[in-house]
Amino acid sequence: MSERIFIGVAWPYAEGSLHIGNIAGADLPADIFARYHRMKGNEVLMVSGSDQHGTPITLKAEQEGKTPQEIIEFYQREFIDCWEKLGICFDLYTGTHTENHIKVSQDIFMKLLDKGWLYKDTVAQMYCPKCQRFLPDRYVEGTCPFCKTPGARGDQCDACSKPLNATELIKPYCRMCKTTPVLKNSEHFFLKLSAFQDKLEKWAEQQKQWRPNVYGFTQRYLKEGLRDRAITRDIEWGIPVPVKGFENKRLYVWFEAVIGYLSASKEWAEKSGDKDKWQPFWQTGVKSYYFLAKDNIPFHTLIWPSMLMGYEGLALPYDVPANEFLTIEGKKISRSLNWAVYLPDYLSRYDPDPLRYILSINMPETSDADFSWREFVRRNNDELVATYGNLVNRVLTFTYRNFEGKVPTCGDMGKTGKEGIPQYASTDLGATLEATAFSLISDIDKELAECHFKYAIHLAMGLAHEANRYLDEKAPWKTIKTDRKAAANSLYVALSVIAQLKTMLYPFLPFSSQKVHEYLGFEGRIEDSRWKWQDLPAGQKLREPQPLFKKLDESIIEEETKRIGT
Ligand SMILES: [Zn+2]
Ligand SMILES: [Zn+2]
Repeated sequence: MSERIFIGVAWPYAEGSLHIGNIAGADLPADIFARYHRMKGNEVLMVSGSDQHGTPITLKAEQEGKTPQEIIEFYQREFIDCWEKLGICFDLYTGTHTENHIKVSQDIFMKLLDKGWLYKDTVAQMYCPKCQRFLPDRYVEGTCPFCKTPGARGDQCDACSKPLNATELIKPYCRMCKTTPVLKNSEHFFLKLSAFQDKLEKWAEQQKQWRPNVYGFTQRYLKEGLRDRAITRDIEWGIPVPVKGFENKRLYVWFEAVIGYLSASKEWAEKSGDKDKWQPFWQTGVKSYYFLAKDNIPFHTLIWPSMLMGYEGLALPYDVPANEFLTIEGKKISRSLNWAVYLPDYLSRYDPDPLRYILSINMPETSDADFSWREFVRRNNDELVATYGNLVNRVLTFTYRNFEGKVPTCGDMGKTGKEGIPQYASTDLGATLEATAFSLISDIDKELAECHFKYAIHLAMGLAHEANRYLDEKAPWKTIKTDRKAAANSLYVALSVIAQLKTMLYPFLPFSSQKVHEYLGFEGRIEDSRWKWQDLPAGQKLREPQPLFKKLDESIIEEETKRIGT
C-alpha cells in the first residue's frame, strides 16, 4: 500500500555558496529519505528553496555593491547547479522572492489576523542615530543574555542557539558603524505564540518519534514559556505587510520563510498542471518530515506548528529529524572565517558519491561529526574503492570475461523461490551470505523509515565486507581452473549480493548504484526496480564494468586542507 510522504528541507540563505555543513545537516538526509521512499513506491513530495529575503541578503548586497535581486539570482543558479551535480532531487527548489510565495505568505498573514492570532503593538526598536535607520536584528550585535557570549547576533545566538530579540542583547552595537543604538518607537504585528502554549505542550508531548535532541530542545523551550514574537520589521527588502498604514514595513523573515514549505508545494502543483495536487500532501494525517540542522529546531517544532494550528486544516509536522553540526578539522564551520568546504569547489574537482558517502557514514545524526580531508581520502580509498568498488569490479569483470558476459548458471543454491524469497538447498557459506543479504533488505528498510541513516549505511557496508571475505575464501579465480561449477556458484552468490547492495546503497550513492544496475544487465532507472530482493536471472547479459570509484592520491590532503580558512 503506497504512502504519501511530504519532505520539507530547511531553506538556505541566498547569501553565499553552499558548504558541506548545509548538506550534512539537511539536504543529504532528506534526499536519502526521499529516494528510499520513492523506491518503496510511495508518493513523495520534496520541496525547498532559497531564503531570499532577510538581512543576510541586504548585508551581502551592500558589501558587494550589488542589488539584492542580483545576489539572489546568482545564488539561485549556483544552488540549483549544486543540487543537480550532487544528486539532491527536489521535486521543486524555488525561492521566497517569487510572486507565488509572496501571495501565499500574505494570505496566511491575513487569515491569522482575521482569526485573532496577530495583534498590533508599539515596540521600542533599535535605531542607529549615526546610520539614521532602524536596525534589523542581524544589524545589531552584542553579548548573549543567556550564555554571555560576546558577538551574538540580534536574532539568534550562535553559541547557545537560542533565538533572541535585539533589545535583549547586553551592550548592543550597530554592526555597520559600531555606534550604540537608541530605542525608538515603531508599530508592529505580533504572533500570539503564548496563546498556543497549552496546545503545543499537548502536541509535542505525543511526538515520541522525534529524536531525543529534538524532543528535549522543544520541551526546554516550552518549560521556559513561549513569548509572543514580532513578525514585521522596518526594512525595505521583503514581503510587504498587506495592511493599510504598514506599506513601508515587511514581514519578518522567520515568519515567511517557514511558509515556504506550503507555497513551494502550491507552486509545484501549479507547474505540474494540476493546481490542487498539493492538497493531498497537506491533509491532516499525512506524514510530513522536516529536515534541518539543530539551530532551526524551534522554528519547526513550535513556531511553524503554531502558525499551522492557527491557520487550521493543514498537517502538522510528523517528524523533525534535525541533525547536529558538522565541524571541519575539529572547528565549527564559519563563513566569515572561510572555515568551510564549499560545494561548488568540491564538485569542480571530485565526484558526488564519495562526498555523499562520507557525510552519510559519518553523519552528525545524534552528535556533532567532524570532516577532514585525511578522513575523506582514507574512507574513499579504504571503504568505497577497496571494499565496495573492488567487490563490484572484480566480480563483474571476472564473470564478464569468463562466462561469455552473462550471469552464470548456479548449481544448487541461490535459486529464487516463488515470491522472490531465496531458497537454500545448501548449508554452504554462500547460502548464509545470501540469507544475510535477504534479511538486511528489511532491516535497512526499517532503519531508513526511522531516519537512522548512519546505521543503515553501516549495515550495507558490512554486507560488502562479508561478500569480500566470502570471495577470498572461495577464490573463484583459482577454482575456475579445476572446478568450473564451483566457481560459477560462488560468482553467482557474489553477483546476487551485489544486486542487493545496489538497492541498499541507492539512497546514499545514487550515481554508482545506477551504474551497478546497468552493469548487472538491468534496464531503466534503478529507482523503478523497487525496494525488494532483486532476482538475478542466470543467463542475463552483463555489461563490461568500469571502476566505480577513483582512488585518491594522498597528496590532495595537504592541498585541500590548505584551502580551508584562507
Ligand atoms: Zn550605525
Ligand atoms: Zn547564547
